[in-house]
Amino acid sequence: MTPEEERYRTLTPTSGLMFAEAASHLPGGDSRSPLFHPPYPVVWKAGAGCRLEDVDGNQLLDFTGNHTSLVLGYGHPAVDEAIRSQLGRGPVFPGTSEPQLCLARTLCERVPSFERVRFTNSGTEAVMLGVRAARAFTGRTTVAKVEGGYNGSVDAVMVSTAPTLAEAGPQARPRAVPGSAGLPPGTCESTVVLPFNDADAATSLVEEHAGDLAAVVVEPVLGSAGMIPADPEYLQALREAATAAGALLVFDEVVSFRVDYGGAQELYGVTPDVTCLGKLVGGGLPLGVVGGRADVMAVFDPTRALPPVPHPGSYNANPLSLAAAQATLDVLDRSAVQRLNARGEEVRSRIAGALSAAGLLAFVTGLGSLFAVHFTAGPVRTYRDAARGDSGLRRRLFLGLFVEGVLIDPRGVGCLSLPVGDPEVERLIAATEVVAARLAE
Ligand code: PLP
Repeated sequence: MTPEEERYRTLTPTSGLMFAEAASHLPGGDSRSPLFHPPYPVVWKAGAGCRLEDVDGNQLLDFTGNHTSLVLGYGHPAVDEAIRSQLGRGPVFPGTSEPQLCLARTLCERVPSFERVRFTNSGTEAVMLGVRAARAFTGRTTVAKVEGGYNGSVDAVMVSTAPTLAEAGPQARPRAVPGSAGLPPGTCESTVVLPFNDADAATSLVEEHAGDLAAVVVEPVLGSAGMIPADPEYLQALREAATAAGALLVFDEVVSFRVDYGGAQELYGVTPDVTCLGKLVGGGLPLGVVGGRADVMAVFDPTRALPPVPHPGSYNANPLSLAAAQATLDVLDRSAVQRLNARGEEVRSRIAGALSAAGLLAFVTGLGSLFAVHFTAGPVRTYRDAARGDSGLRRRLFLGLFVEGVLIDPRGVGCLSLPVGDPEVERLIAATEVVAARLAE
């Protein structure tokens, strides 16, 4: 057992007991698989701003924001008030409501590719609908997605989400590897896996499937593989290749939306046909958004004789989530995004400095207010680069930071929320220095 794990266990006995009991009711003790980490994840009790408290009374500085969802932190007064006020009027109605109109207007003004939007309950549902819309609109089936990209628990893209390097196939022509058991037969056959940040190889693969490709799905910042930003030329090449192939370009901006006021598409100047949002857009409540070109989004329109794509959902556009979303986006104006991004730049460079000063070989990736640490021999530009990292050191960094009162994602990923100020950044860097010195011993 590493010293970090020993100390973690000592600090979290109640979590250990509760997690053990939870495992007799919930497979693996929780309902969210990627958040498991050995020896056991802690049980959370409360959050305020960028601080979290667990059931043992440990106070953590939160650099996860519920894995990029809480860009304003916990308990922002404007968001709490919007939720309370909407709750007093009713959490959900048997039809549309004013908050839906307001948020649709806000998003169509804000996101370059949005001519029309639809609301759903999660990033997963947004991607599911985006893919289905693309298939309906083009009359084609095959979907291209990026190796190492997680685009929600959607069968069509639950492929090569985190393949082992042994099974991944040639770098420029990745194999389609099931990302889950239980996918319908034929899923991998109708999915083309594109290498990230290799414009030529990705373009060739799109060209090869030009006749049957419905959609090219890409995250402008490859999130779960470790916050790897796309090269601008890569996204531009996919834009051109998708158009030439008669396929739709779908941006999964569930994570990357925060990097600019109108999402990564504004920063990169590349406009997709369809965009999927989730996580932070709901302001802490469940919300997914699928939006894009009016002619594509018309597949959902029931005022047409027979909408090709029905879009039912008892909690779709529930006003409670919409109110939280509206309040969040109102606070997350251009200047707030700029402040977050400037701090993100500082944090990435200072973490990299702390690791290298300790003599560790590590690279820090990210964009805007997103960051990730990779213990790799060289810079990280693809999923495969990240997968070659030292996962033992990454785990020790995570547990070591926890012990120092700082929370990042067990996968070495983090993000900033607006309540993170100078003192919190100083604590993050000081904790990183302490842990880095131990890892270098
Ligand atoms: N797309 C990306 C890039 C994600 O990171 C995630 C979740 O982690 C999703 C889609 C799915 O979103 P949700 O968890 O809201 O279903």
